[in-house]
Amino acid sequence: MMPARKLSLIDRLPPVRGQYRADVALGPRTWFRVGGRADVVFRPADVEDLAAFFAARPADVPVTILGVGSNVLIRDDGIEGIVVRLGRNFADVVVNGEWVTAGAGALDVSVALSARDAGLTGLEFLRGIPGTIGGGLKVNAGAFGGEFKDVLVSAEAVDFGGQVHHFTAVDLGLGYRSSRVSEGYVFTRAEFHAAFGDREQIDRRMADITANRNLSQPVHARTGGSTFVNPSDPKAGGRKAWQLIEEAGCRGLKLGGAQVSEQHCNFLVNAGSATAADLEELGEIVRRRVFDRFGLWLEWEIYRIGRPAPRRGGGA
Ligand SMILES: Cc1cc2nc3c(=O)[nH]c(=O)nc-3n(C[C@H](O)[C@H](O)[C@H](O)COP(=O)(O)OP(=O)(O)OC[C@H]3O[C@@H](n4cnc5c(N)ncnc54)[C@H](O)[C@@H]3O)c2cc1C
Repeated sequence: MMPARKLSLIDRLPPVRGQYRADVALGPRTWFRVGGRADVVFRPADVEDLAAFFAARPADVPVTILGVGSNVLIRDDGIEGIVVRLGRNFADVVVNGEWVTAGAGALDVSVALSARDAGLTGLEFLRGIPGTIGGGLKVNAGAFGGEFKDVLVSAEAVDFGGQVHHFTAVDLGLGYRSSRVSEGYVFTRAEFHAAFGDREQIDRRMADITANRNLSQPVHARTGGSTFVNPSDPKAGGRKAWQLIEEAGCRGLKLGGAQVSEQHCNFLVNAGSATAADLEELGEIVRRRVFDRFGLWLEWEIYRIGRPAPRRGGGA
C-alpha cells in the first residue's frame, strides 16, 4: 500500500495541467537500473504549466530534475519531494535553415538525426550522448571532439520561483562538464546553430561515432557514463581518469553486483544485482585507491542523488 505521506503530498501541490504520479519507481527510469522511488513525479504540460507549478508549490518541498537518467545514480531509498521530468511535451525538434530548436526533453540523438536529415553539420557529436538536451545543457555534455558550447546559441529555463529566463550561450558560462547556470533552474528549450554540409560526410561521421562508442564504451551495459571527471591536478601528470583508475589496479574490480567496467575503467556497471549502495561504495573504493597511488581525489561526474537505504543489520 502507498504510504499516506506520499498521497498527502499530492494534496498539498497546486493544480496543474500536466500529471502528478505518487510513489514512482525510479530505477527503471535510469541507465543504472538501480535506486528507490520518488514521492511524486510531475510531468508538466508545457512551460507555462511548469512555471505556474513553481510559483505556487509549497516552499518546503524539495525538487529534483531528472532527464533520462544517463548520468545519475539514484540512491536506494529514493527521492524525497517532487521529481520533475519533462516528457514528450518537451521533445519537439524544429529545423529552420541553419538553426535547430529543441525541447529540453528531446534526446540528443533525435537532434543529431533531425540535423542530419536537414543536411546540417556540426551536431553529429550528439549522436554519441545518450541523454536529453536538458541534461546536456546542465553539464555542457560533449563527445568525439564536439560539445554543447560549440553549437549552442541560447537556452530557455524556468527557475524554482516560476520565472522564465532566456540565456545566451555566453550567459551560461559553459566549461568542461559544467555550466554557470545550473542549480535552481529547469532548462526547457535550446537553440543551436549548425551549417549546411555534405550529407554523405555527415552520415559517415555519425557512423564513425557509433562504431567508436560501441568499441570503447559499455553502451549496452547498465551504467551511468563516465564516473569521474578528468582531473586538472598536476599530480595526475596529464593522465585521464580512466588511466589513473587503471594504474591504481581497479579495472574489473567488483563489489556486490557492481563492477568497474573491463571495457572502459572510468565506467561503473551494474552487473545485474547491484544496489545503488554497491555502486557508490565501489566508486569510493576506486577514489581511495587512486588517492593512495597518486595523492589526488577523483571528483564524481555522475550525480548521486536521493536517500541512502538504512544500514542493514544495525539492531534496535
Ligand atoms: C553509455 C553512456 C555514455 C555516455 N557518454 C557520454 C559522453 O560521451 N559525453 C557526455 O558528456 N556524457 C556522456 N554520458 C553521460 C550522459 O549521457 C550526459 O551527461 C547527458 O547529458 C545526461 O542527460 P540526461 O537526460 O540523462 O540527464 P540525467 O542523467 O537525468 O541528469 C543529469 C543531471 O542533469 C540535470 N538535468 C537533467 N535535465 C535537466 C533539465 N531539463 N534542466 C536542468 N537540469 C537537468 C539533472 O538534475 C542531473 O543533475 C554517457 C552516459 C552513458 C550511460
